Amino acid sequence: MLIVSGIPVSSGVAIGKAYILAHALNEVEPYLISEQNILNEIKRFNQAIKQLKSELLNLKKELKKNRMNEFGSFIDIQLAIINDPKISKNPLEIIKKSKQNAEWALKVQMEEIITKFNSIENSYIRERKNDVYQVCETLIKYLIGHESKQLSNDKNRIIVAHDISPADALKFKNSNNIAFVTDIGGTTSHTAILAKSINIPSVVGTQNAKNLISNGDNLIVDGDHGCVIINPTDEVINEYRLKQNLYELESKKLLNLQKLTSKTIDKVPVNLYVNIEDTNNIESVILNNTKGVGLFRTEFIFMDKHRMLDENEQFIIYKNLTKALPNKTITIRTLDSGGDKVIEHMPNTNQNPALGLRAIRFCLAEPDVFITQIKALLRAAHYGDIRILIPMLSSDNELRQVKLLIQRAKDILTSERKKFNPKTLVGGMIEVPAAAIDAESFANQLDFLSIGTNDLIQYTLAVDRTDDAVSHLYDSSHPALLKLIKGVIDAGTKAGIEVSLCGEMAGDPKLTKLLIGLGLTNFSMHPSSLLKVKKVILESEFSKVKSKAKKILSTHDKIEIENLINNLNN
Ligand code: PEP
Ligand code: MG
Repeated sequence: MLIVSGIPVSSGVAIGKAYILAHALNEVEPYLISEQNILNEIKRFNQAIKQLKSELLNLKKELKKNRMNEFGSFIDIQLAIINDPKISKNPLEIIKKSKQNAEWALKVQMEEIITKFNSIENSYIRERKNDVYQVCETLIKYLIGHESKQLSNDKNRIIVAHDISPADALKFKNSNNIAFVTDIGGTTSHTAILAKSINIPSVVGTQNAKNLISNGDNLIVDGDHGCVIINPTDEVINEYRLKQNLYELESKKLLNLQKLTSKTIDKVPVNLYVNIEDTNNIESVILNNTKGVGLFRTEFIFMDKHRMLDENEQFIIYKNLTKALPNKTITIRTLDSGGDKVIEHMPNTNQNPALGLRAIRFCLAEPDVFITQIKALLRAAHYGDIRILIPMLSSDNELRQVKLLIQRAKDILTSERKKFNPKTLVGGMIEVPAAAIDAESFANQLDFLSIGTNDLIQYTLAVDRTDDAVSHLYDSSHPALLKLIKGVIDAGTKAGIEVSLCGEMAGDPKLTKLLIGLGLTNFSMHPSSLLKVKKVILESEFSKVKSKAKKILSTHDKIEIENLINNLNN
């Protein structure tokens, strides 16, 4: 028995047989093609491109049918890579010139592209490199005839791979495949997001699971604790079967909580909101009796279309949300491009994108883009409870400029005689330590605050949130972070405005009581976490968790903090 640990990205327990996805790129060998076979080789290459394109397009249709359109953008990225002549045409030249086989030509070309990517220090480009890699890997599988052999019909397969592309993850989403384990990837990788949405227990970033696991090995994947047990003893299997049964039972039981009002035992209301990246799949907002949308990451609608949308196009999207979610609050964040989220044709060439011209900094540098979005939001706010959320504020000066631009947008709308809501609430994301430290000032000038812990942790602890090499330092219970969160909640309370938390921490049930104890009463999270968090809220007693949280706030040792959090949860 051997235990490998990685990053838990999708909870649940799976017990099954390892199914290793071959690393087709490793199997490619060069061989010479005779003059008369060159045309055949070109045909073989073009056929592989055609096959992958049609497979991706079918997948996209299937996603649409299954109302999972939000994943279409993952497929679009891969389609754009295949359509790039560097992938679809350059290898043909290599085949012709060097008279070598198609898979070798593609590998040579891919390595050239990847070497170029490697010289750029930009986390987003790093992810794109993985996309190129995944596309080439699939094409090579087709070329060497792997694909059909690859997936047998065995039941309870646990897919083990160096990496799994989002497209592959979607393909593998059938009852035979019950878990994913990968060597690379982090919590914010596309595959991780997908795994969570399709409810498949997954552990990523194990570094070397693929080398340690052989095809057919018995595996246990614990998606809550990020561990993979290779060839467990019968005793361990039995223990995990019990855990699995409990987990399934628990998931069914949780459905009973959907309609309940979210409040603590001592009747303190704790509002739940949902984070969305798209306007599809918003049923969870209503099904789970939430207050509404706490964070709509609008950059994804632009990323999906590969361009900015004009005022009317945006207005229609936002207005439709008010129709789909009557009587719900809809918090729409203005464009948060940059960092690891890049929209084509927008500049993002700086060396250190997380610290560069991202989010509101970009919008202030491009006021037309900002004003267009604000106009669309103000107009849509005429039809429902839409609130505007500004990302990554770091200074008073920035906030002043934001307010001036919002006023300018209102003046333009008035002169254009368009209907809008002049009283639309404007809030700010607190995700830069400077803003958290100076939260009182922001609280006094804004209508609500939303704590973005994904970035607040990254910037407070100086840990790149997309880099799995430092993911062990990305600590959501670090004493410095907890003090910042407490400070923001207190500043909001003092100013009499709502403070919510919309980073991943909000969806982690292990932290729910601690956050309530710090005074947080508004949580916004991925829909899959709603009921787990609601259950903890219903079992919490505010007066009790408050004093325990106070003790945690004055503790500095990591292990001690962990013990105190465990104690709080038991
Ligand atoms: C955050 O930073 O916590 C957040 C919610 O925003 P994003 O993850 O989109 O940066
Ligand atoms: Mg953020």
